[in-house]
Amino acid sequence: MKVPGYPDSYYAATAIGVHDHPTLCGNQRADVCVIGGGFTGLSAALNLAEQGFSVILLEAQRIGFGASGRCGGLIGSGQRRDVLEMEEQFGFDLSRQFWDFAEEAKAEIRKRVAMHDIACDLQRGQLVGLHNKSYTGWAKELAGALRDRYDYPHASVLTRDETYSLVSTHTFHGGFLDTEAAHLHPLNLALGLARAAREAGVRIFEYSRVTSYTDSEPAIIRTADGIVDAEFIVLACNGYLEKLDRRLATRMMPINNFMIATEPLGEDRARSLIGQRIGIHDSRFVVDYFRLSDDHRLLFGGGENYRRGYPRDVKSFVRKYMLRLFPQLADVSIDYAWGGVVAVTVNRLPHVGRLAPNLYFAQGYSGHGISTANFAGKVIAEAIGGTASRFDVFGRLPIHNFPGGTLLRYPGMVLGMLYYSMKDRLG
Ligand SMILES: Cc1cc2nc3c(=O)[nH]c(=O)nc-3n(C[C@H](O)[C@H](O)[C@H](O)COP(=O)(O)OP(=O)(O)OC[C@H]3O[C@@H](n4cnc5c(N)ncnc54)[C@H](O)[C@@H]3O)c2cc1C
Repeated sequence: MKVPGYPDSYYAATAIGVHDHPTLCGNQRADVCVIGGGFTGLSAALNLAEQGFSVILLEAQRIGFGASGRCGGLIGSGQRRDVLEMEEQFGFDLSRQFWDFAEEAKAEIRKRVAMHDIACDLQRGQLVGLHNKSYTGWAKELAGALRDRYDYPHASVLTRDETYSLVSTHTFHGGFLDTEAAHLHPLNLALGLARAAREAGVRIFEYSRVTSYTDSEPAIIRTADGIVDAEFIVLACNGYLEKLDRRLATRMMPINNFMIATEPLGEDRARSLIGQRIGIHDSRFVVDYFRLSDDHRLLFGGGENYRRGYPRDVKSFVRKYMLRLFPQLADVSIDYAWGGVVAVTVNRLPHVGRLAPNLYFAQGYSGHGISTANFAGKVIAEAIGGTASRFDVFGRLPIHNFPGGTLLRYPGMVLGMLYYSMKDRLG
């Protein structure tokens, strides 16, 4: 079923609780205006409303239209960069702080799903398939570090055979299993959070693209047909920001990433691919990620491009990555194919901060945004509420401009990714 305003994805076809919000017309007033209706914006809006702020959320398209409603649905532990890398670059204390943030972020999602009764097929468990033998040492070191220094006993290293017993691909040399990571239907999470936000009093407007804003007091936010004046702005457009604020655009690279959903495979065939309903991604830099849906399809993400447009035939583009792992699916047809924008930063760490005393933003979760975006929205709400101690910790992460700014970041990225895809092949 096609849902107006959403891409033709498996998620849109199985969406629960799509609600038509009005378009902003005329003048409105609020304490806070949130721009963007993905996880960052929804979380900020909901947490702010719960603190008693009056909140308006403006979404250019529909709730969850961006990455939040299109993504792989995998909720990994920690940050996009693992604790070994974090320790090496920032030392143990900051690494531990960000690990604890990420643990809270996972718990926050579970809490919201339970509290608001959100039907989003939340499942436990995630496996990293080691595409090259050389990653076994890394996996052992990481599991050991998590157990010994992060009080996290839920990660373990699997042999090749143990990995094969969980996922029927011969491409993995072993695995890193995290039984407390998770996965879910991301659009249904977004729609459930929007419902919770409405119930908490947030006024949501769809098809209300912000064209400009000021950081004056009050801030003036304009769309084609309306104006909001607000004490604070939360800018939550992430990879869909375009030219709305050039100060942020230079620190983030929008990359297109693609997914497919197979036809329903039937329970037996689906379970023969992935024995338990864990989410899986491999250890490649340009990652393949996949999981089963509750109607026994394989949802598979793989491949990206570094320009504005999508490949002409997204189904075939992604299918070749799927068949590299699962040649046994050659006879299976693909029902849905779609893409979305992942916002990456130079060092793959989140960019959360303030551009002016009343202008907050969060972006650049680098493919690890389900939990991090929800958490970023929460700490921004805390900061607007007067407690900025956790928000300020994000300022300790150096987020640099992409070399060449918005003009030359794409050619630079293409070169960089060629290097990494060669590394992926060579191991
Ligand atoms: C294909 C794909 C797979 C991914 N897989 C995973 C995964 O498995 N696990 C994971 O953790 N992360 C994954 N991610 C990343 C994750 O989806 C994002 O990090 C996260 O959803 C970002 O949420 P957000 O709210 O910041 O941004 P978005 O969800 O992109 O929301 C931004 C919103 O802002 C709106 N907007 C833009 N400009 C304006 C404007 N001028 N006025 C009003 N509204 C505006 C857009 O319409 C959009 O709805 C994936 C992303 C993609 C694209």
